[in-house]
Amino acid sequence: MHKVATDDRGAIGTFFKACEAALGMDRVQALAQDRMAYTDQMGFDATAHEPAGAVAPRSVEELRQVVRLANAHEVALWPVSRGKNFGYGGAAPVLAGSVVVDLSGLKRIHEIDVKRGFCVVEPGVGFYDLYDELARLGHPLWMSVPGNAWGSVAGNALERGKGPQPYGDHGAQICGLEVMLADGSLVRTGTGAMAGSKTWHLSRDTYGPAWDQMFCQSNFGIVTRLGLWLMPAPEATLSMDYALAEPGDLARGVDAIYPLRQRGLIDHDPAWVSYVGIASFVGPRRTWYEGEGLLPEEVGAQIRRQLGIGWWNAQLNFYGHEEVIRAKARVVADALEKALGPRPEPRLWRQGDDFGASHAGIPSTRDMMMIDWYGGRGGHLGFSPILPADGALAQAQFERTRARFEAAGIDYYGAFSVGGRAIISINEILYDRDDVAMAKSVPVLMNRLIEDAAREGYAEYRTHIDAMDRVAATLDYGAREGGPGAMARLNALLKDAIDPNGILAPGKQGIWPARYREGGSARVLRP
Ligand SMILES: Cc1cc2nc3c(=O)[nH]c(=O)nc-3n(C[C@H](O)[C@H](O)[C@H](O)COP(=O)(O)OP(=O)(O)OC[C@H]3O[C@@H](n4cnc5c(N)ncnc54)[C@H](O)[C@@H]3O)c2cc1C
Repeated sequence: MHKVATDDRGAIGTFFKACEAALGMDRVQALAQDRMAYTDQMGFDATAHEPAGAVAPRSVEELRQVVRLANAHEVALWPVSRGKNFGYGGAAPVLAGSVVVDLSGLKRIHEIDVKRGFCVVEPGVGFYDLYDELARLGHPLWMSVPGNAWGSVAGNALERGKGPQPYGDHGAQICGLEVMLADGSLVRTGTGAMAGSKTWHLSRDTYGPAWDQMFCQSNFGIVTRLGLWLMPAPEATLSMDYALAEPGDLARGVDAIYPLRQRGLIDHDPAWVSYVGIASFVGPRRTWYEGEGLLPEEVGAQIRRQLGIGWWNAQLNFYGHEEVIRAKARVVADALEKALGPRPEPRLWRQGDDFGASHAGIPSTRDMMMIDWYGGRGGHLGFSPILPADGALAQAQFERTRARFEAAGIDYYGAFSVGGRAIISINEILYDRDDVAMAKSVPVLMNRLIEDAAREGYAEYRTHIDAMDRVAATLDYGAREGGPGAMARLNALLKDAIDPNGILAPGKQGIWPARYREGGSARVLRP
């Protein structure tokens, strides 16, 4: 159980006044409508994570003033880059009453190094901003983008966000950060620790501990600048679509792909996507079915027929010299023929062709259509455990998860993103927030899924703000007498040393500073 040190409305009010004096009136948003704007837009209970308001510094120096004032007034801050973390809590903090630090005004692209293939961005740089700049340069480098590209390059990478492109493990592309610590000081990670470093964003090799990942999914600092590796524009791309007819075909789909991925024959983590996911990008459920309850199987079959898709669907993309990718695609198609059926017609794109057909990371918000599946005020929750790359285990996880979805009255929608050694099983719990039954069943479903996965030895790669404590509690190696696991103890030790006043994102990833951790029951700080 957690508490807030004070629910003194005066402290927050004084903090906001001090921010207004230091930064200007327009940088403080603390009215009721501002609080609404920064709550979880897809949550069932807007008050559960309602912030006290937001401050919006537009420079590192202004951010430092906010941090100093937060220390002075013991105010909890929740930094966001663009705050579009939909499905995981949007811009809202774990702890109601925290002040959102909206960094979307820090929008500078510091550098795009075309030759060495990286960019350096401030937190507010969106996928569309970076895309526009790369387009202006003639697309010499390609981005990897998430399905919802409304957010920021930095915030998404710091959450270890994913895209379907070769550089699609966004957290893994980070190289060199500038971070503001809780005392307002700035630190540069990697070789950037040397003043005048010439290799800050070029190499992850460094002297001493490597801290880039320590600032991902953590609350140890506020990232003010992020280096990210980008893919050199390939000469051509080639893509092949595969489909599997039955839900029970997932195992062979996974077993066919992961060894090829491990050997570098496939350039990205292909995902087996269930048909409801694809249908949800075409139209809401009522396009096919207006009835109550789960989508009947015959309607599912009709959707698959109409859209020409399987129960599971995967796209394999190849990037590079035409000769090389044609050869790779041939070897892959030969290897897959036995398990997945005849070779699909490959689609080739060459430099100079219409860019839209390239499989470059072109930002889009099309995937937001899935939120409308049930109609009403839609929403979705992401549940994403990491599994071994193993067909039988993936199939079992799918069966378990689907049964839980169906018991909760929710149509199953999942994607198994197959890497060479592990799979991320991305499950999208779609719902209508106005549906009373769903409002009850979705949180229960989420809990069951977390418990089931932990029982199998699968941790999540990322979670919603509501579930951060619960997922953290599943990391229980080294737990003593029902207490927290060894990792939670290490995180708490670090948190208290690095942020002694506990001002930075209390509760993020289940990491609570001492003042919210010890004694006391959970209380909500309200403005
Ligand atoms: C339909 C749909 C499809 C989606 N598809 C994908 C997908 O394919 N891949 C994917 O990864 N996500 C996906 N998402 C989830 C989400 O929308 C994206 O990840 C989005 O990019 C996150 O928003 P953001 O970039 O604005 O991050 P923010 O909201 O700015 O940041 C997320 C969190 O990171 C931390 N943080 C952010 N910036 C900083 C900073 N500067 N310093 C310290 N901590 C910081 C904070 O805790 C913050 O809450 C999808 C969501 C929806 C609704």
